[in-house]
Amino acid sequence: MKRALITGSSRGIGKAVALELAARGYAVAVHYAGNEAAARETAAAAGELGSPLVTVHRADLSQATAAGELVAAASQALGGLDVLVNNAGVTRDGLLIRMKDADWDEVIATNLSAVFRLTREAIKLMMKARWGRVINVSSIAGLMGNAGQANYAAAKAGLVGFTKSVAKEYAARGITVNAVAPGFIESDMTAALPDKVRQEYLKAIPAGRFGRPEEVAKLVAFLASDEAAYINGQTIVIDGGLYPH
Ligand code: NDP
Repeated sequence: MKRALITGSSRGIGKAVALELAARGYAVAVHYAGNEAAARETAAAAGELGSPLVTVHRADLSQATAAGELVAAASQALGGLDVLVNNAGVTRDGLLIRMKDADWDEVIATNLSAVFRLTREAIKLMMKARWGRVINVSSIAGLMGNAGQANYAAAKAGLVGFTKSVAKEYAARGITVNAVAPGFIESDMTAALPDKVRQEYLKAIPAGRFGRPEEVAKLVAFLASDEAAYINGQTIVIDGGLYPH
C-alpha cells in the first residue's frame, strides 16, 4: 500500500488527485487550510473509491512552521509517506506597481517556500525507504508569464528550478521529483476570473476548451507510479496546446 499526502486536496485539482490515487488503492492524507467541510467530503469520496486509509489534516501553509508539522502528522497517521503532491496554491493578482508586499509574500510563502519545507521533510522519509515521488503543481504562468501575476508566476517558475535541483540530489535513491504545469483548468481559482478574461483564454487554447481537474490528476497519478520511474526533473505541461504557441 502506497501512502500519499496531497496538499490542498479539499477542492479543485488537489481533490481530483486525491480521488484518483484513492481509486488506485493509495492511502491518502487529505489536506486543507480553512475549508474543513470540503476536505471531509473529499475524504469520504476517497474512502468510497476504495482507499484503504484516509486521513484529514489542517495546515495554513503560508505559515513557516506548518509544512513540517503537516508532513509529520500525515506520515504518522499513514504509517509512512511514499508520495507528496505539492498542490496547494493561492493567487493574489495585481499589476506590479500596485502589488503590496503582503501579496508578494503570501504567494511566495504558500506556493514556493512551503513546497521547499514540505519536500525537505518528505524526502527524509523517502530516503530511508529508498523510494519516493514528489510532484509539484506549477503552472504555465511560471513558463510564459502572465500580466497581473508577477508574484504567482515567480513562485511557479521557482518550482521548476526547485524540481530540477532536488531531482538531481535524490535520483540515486529511487526518488523522482517532477512538476506539472497546467494551463487553464476549471476550478474555484479560475471561476473567480472575470468572464472577459475566461473568454480570451478560451480563444487562445487550441483544444477549444478548458481542462478538467481529473485530467491533471491522471498525469499526476502516472508520475507517482512505478511506470514513471525514469522520468525525473521534468515539468510536464498540460494545457490543451496553449503553450508553447
Ligand atoms: P483551488 O483554489 O480550487 O484550491 C486551492 C487549494 O489550496 C484548496 O484545497 C485550499 O484549501 C488550499 N489552500 C489555499 N490556501 C492555502 C494555504 N494558505 N495553506 C494551505 N492550503 C491552502 O485551486 P486549484 O485546484 O485551481 O489549484 C490547485 C493548484 O494548481 C494550485 O497550486 C494552482 O496554482 C495550480 N494551478 C491551477 C490552475 C487552474 O487553472 N486552476 C492552472 C495552473 C496551476 P481550502 O479549501 O481549505 O481553502
